[in-house]
Amino acid sequence: MTSSNENVFKTTSGSWHVWALSDGYLDMPASLLRDADNNPVHADAKADETLRLSVNCFALAGPGVEGILIDSGGGGWAPTLGRLEKTMIEAEIDPALITVLALTHTHQDHVHGLLTPDSRVLFPNLKSIVIPEAAVSGFHAEAQLAQFRPLLTPIRDGEHVAERLTAVALPGHAPGHTGYAFRTDENSFLFFGDVVHVPALQFANAAFSWSYDDDQPTARATRRRVFDEAVATGTWIAGAHLGWPGIGRVVRHGDAYDYRPAT
Ligand SMILES: [Zn+2]
Repeated sequence: MTSSNENVFKTTSGSWHVWALSDGYLDMPASLLRDADNNPVHADAKADETLRLSVNCFALAGPGVEGILIDSGGGGWAPTLGRLEKTMIEAEIDPALITVLALTHTHQDHVHGLLTPDSRVLFPNLKSIVIPEAAVSGFHAEAQLAQFRPLLTPIRDGEHVAERLTAVALPGHAPGHTGYAFRTDENSFLFFGDVVHVPALQFANAAFSWSYDDDQPTARATRRRVFDEAVATGTWIAGAHLGWPGIGRVVRHGDAYDYRPAT
């Protein structure tokens, strides 16, 4: 059972609900997309040519996972981001109900949504910010977010955020980059952060990497592993930069893959 508009997508699995919540989008230089030899895929792109990345956050509700948000979007970090508060209102989710924010990594488009673009605290009742252990220093580097440091709750691969919600190391993109696996009685979901930046090209060409992947060979291997496991297990994938609604299935065609957005 699903419902959606252009900013909110909600799917229900048994007693659990999963929302994709749009925070906006980022237009990034096309030259950031690299082939397996680290050459720009769009070698003849003009300097001002851009690729549009959607920026999505995800909320969970149901027994054991009430009040959990995965990534917070970019807040005032970029003018095309910071839509999350409006989107949550459209989704009828009161930000005051969010008590746990689980971060996939600490790049600005995932963490600065702790503050609204006009610098208000978006989640007044937040009790913990679950963060990959290796990403803590990255969070500390964001001086505007200093007030949230006491909430940091470091986590490692395989540890539980909540019943049914487990951290999964997905190395390559950023220090400690981590996904969150969620199991209902009927479905599994993997909130995989930045395993994919350009869905229109990286499913067909899983070797294509993003310049901001710290370790491109590792990011590439992680992407193939995630795709293969999602195909084999029928897991729903949910990504910060997956094409709207940010949740879908992976299918395999020989060496290539395809993304089927949820409907
Ligand atoms: Zn990102």
